[in-house]
Amino acid sequence: MALPDRNKPGVVIIGCGFGGLEAARALRNAPVEITLVDKTNHHLFQPLLYQVATAGLSAPAIAAPVRHLFRKQANVTTLLGEVTAIDTEARRVMLDDGPALPYDHLIVAAGATHSYFGRDDWAPFAPGLKTLDDAFEIRRRILLAFEAAEKEPDSALRAAWLTFIVVGGGPTGVEMAGTMAEIARHTLPGEFRHIDPASARILLLEGGSRVLQAMPPDLSQRAKEQLEKLGVEVRLDSRVVAIDAGTVKVQAGVAGAPTTPQTIDTRCVIWAAGVAASPLGRLLAQQVPGTATDRAGRIAVEPDLTLPGHPEINVIGDLAAAKSYPPHGEPQPVPGVSPAAKQMGRAAAANKRRGGGPHGPGGPLQVQRLLRVAVLAFRAHLLPDRFPQPHRGVDRLGFGVLEQTALRAGGDGYRRCAPLARGCCHVSICAIDEASTRAVCGRRAVDDG
Ligand SMILES: Cc1cc2nc3c(=O)[nH]c(=O)nc-3n(C[C@H](O)[C@H](O)[C@H](O)COP(=O)(O)OP(=O)(O)OC[C@H]3O[C@@H](n4cnc5c(N)ncnc54)[C@H](O)[C@@H]3O)c2cc1C
Repeated sequence: MALPDRNKPGVVIIGCGFGGLEAARALRNAPVEITLVDKTNHHLFQPLLYQVATAGLSAPAIAAPVRHLFRKQANVTTLLGEVTAIDTEARRVMLDDGPALPYDHLIVAAGATHSYFGRDDWAPFAPGLKTLDDAFEIRRRILLAFEAAEKEPDSALRAAWLTFIVVGGGPTGVEMAGTMAEIARHTLPGEFRHIDPASARILLLEGGSRVLQAMPPDLSQRAKEQLEKLGVEVRLDSRVVAIDAGTVKVQAGVAGAPTTPQTIDTRCVIWAAGVAASPLGRLLAQQVPGTATDRAGRIAVEPDLTLPGHPEINVIGDLAAAKSYPPHGEPQPVPGVSPAAKQMGRAAAANKRRGGGPHGPGGPLQVQRLLRVAVLAFRAHLLPDRFPQPHRGVDRLGFGVLEQTALRAGGDGYRRCAPLARGCCHVSICAIDEASTRAVCGRRAVDDG
């Protein structure tokens, strides 16, 4: 394989998620040769993964081939490969398959994966949702559970097939549970002869005292009520203590006063409870003295997103435990959301362009407006007075209306949106800025950036 022109500084970017994609694009006119390496061949719009997992969208609606995205950017070479090691002394990135990639500047944007809090043995019984493959697996399990129930003569076993458990009441868990309830209550009825899909139990188990803990308490309460209205059993203060092929054991009660675990028979469990940074984080931290990782394995980066003593290495996105340094006030932790990853990608590229990296330090990260918005909207339950007839176009329009409202409303956008979304069918969460508003609205924006 011919490697890129070494007469120009070489930038290797690991990962073409939100952060890596944005960094590569922001360097489009820079005099550098970029090698963009990802272990998948597509950029994935993760916020809508749950729609693929619940058969609402097809894969191409949320995934775009990396090679295609960069076909017109001549300074980018795209490689498919998994990075297995980084040699920070020799400045080389090692792939599972293929030659080592030398770099002058490295941007690590490998993101995060799910964590089972030390119980990786649960993974086969309770898949998490992070990749397209995860979404296909979850979709398969959900749809096959209804099919198995239709054939099952034994009522207890039939009930187990029709019991769906989502573990974790964060945004992904809330979205999954809400959409599954919608499928069971609204999409499937009438399609089976021996079961009533609407009788399916959908349980959302949350270890804490409320769902959507990152949102204000009133919105958590509202989301819980919406879920219950849809027929989801929301159990708070309920910790999962065991999962196997046919059961989930759950212990209710607040810390210090646990109750006897209850066993629930189920054939379909979805894990939405924990996030862990890419293993590349710990790998880098081991090599670079003075670099720390947090409990989730995210790297504590310098204010300009570099590693201590390594101005040529930026770590961005979900892999970075970064802080934003506003002109006034205390530094704030940057949340693990797509607009933040994109802004970090732009910041890393800007540092590089204005002399950061091998030639000197860059400026501190200043995350711009990150609006947290409850984006609620599927089917025509959104704004029912304005859109009485359910049809597909309403979904898009609904998103647009809410996002525009949120943007106009400034930092308090989510509060203005929540009443608007009253009566909507399920709840999903999206943190948006102006750039990602376009992305949320559809594939074209993902393509066009
Ligand atoms: C189900 C789900 C729903 C979400 N919903 C929202 C939402 O509504 N709003 C919001 O703002 N955020 C949401 N997020 C979070 C958002 O997607 C992340 O914050 C964002 O993707 C982080 O971007 P990133 O570039 O750091 O990592 P990612 O987008 O995860 O990209 C990492 C890339 O690195 C590649 N990679 C990883 N390891 C290697 C390796 N060793 N070698 C080569 N390539 C590698 C991966 O294949 C991937 O392409 C959601 C996330 C999930 C999983």
